[in-house]
Amino acid sequence: MSTKITIAIDGYSACGKSTLAKALAKALDYSFIDSGAMYRGAALFFYRQGHVSEEMMDIEAIERAIPNLDLSFKIQNTKNCLYLNNENIENEIRQVYVVNIVSKVATIKKVRTALVKQQQRMGENGGIVMDGRDIGSVVFPNAQLKIFVTASPEIRAQRRFTELRQKGIPQSLEEVQLNLTKRDHIDSTREESPLVQVQDAIVLDNSKLTKEEQLEWALEKARKIISSMH
Ligand code: C5P
Repeated sequence: MSTKITIAIDGYSACGKSTLAKALAKALDYSFIDSGAMYRGAALFFYRQGHVSEEMMDIEAIERAIPNLDLSFKIQNTKNCLYLNNENIENEIRQVYVVNIVSKVATIKKVRTALVKQQQRMGENGGIVMDGRDIGSVVFPNAQLKIFVTASPEIRAQRRFTELRQKGIPQSLEEVQLNLTKRDHIDSTREESPLVQVQDAIVLDNSKLTKEEQLEWALEKARKIISSMH
């Protein structure tokens, strides 16, 4: 049996991390975890409790509510979906009102500690591809393969705009651009595990690559590491 490694994929918003992570996991027969979905799920939960909105955030109330946060991934029609208690929230967490508050919620240390613990449990046996902002730096600092994905801001905004349109979520290109800039700023300047490019990460600029080309690039890196471990 071949060794199953841990793969950490980090990078700015909307640069195709999840697309790459999902395809890589499928090709290697590994599990895939979208850690951003978990932060979105947490934001949705606290929003519904009235603890956060675009205008306010009650950090103490959020911290008190953390033990009641129940997020899990379940396979639905071959798709890995995020559940909040027994509700499939996969579509809801992509809505604009969640996108506009998620990075605020992700600055709270106790929220991060709770989610990181759950993420580490999911990856304790290896054979996992996880994407996010702090996977190579905090969640899996010993991951055998770390990829830092980048793409130009214009391309990222255009890709996210097209994706949202396909999902029927109305947002103008300018709104998308503004949200990405805001989230990137919050994510890379926050005190608690900010988005950083760790030293041992390999950079992938996919501005000019197709999905197939970026998968090929990453698969080659992964296979090299896996075969060197035999
Ligand atoms: O990856 P996605 O865009 O779904 O992530 C949503 C938000 O969740 C990010 O903008 C960031 O604020 C937060 N996040 C994080 N750490 C992660 C994954 C996501 O802080 N590992």
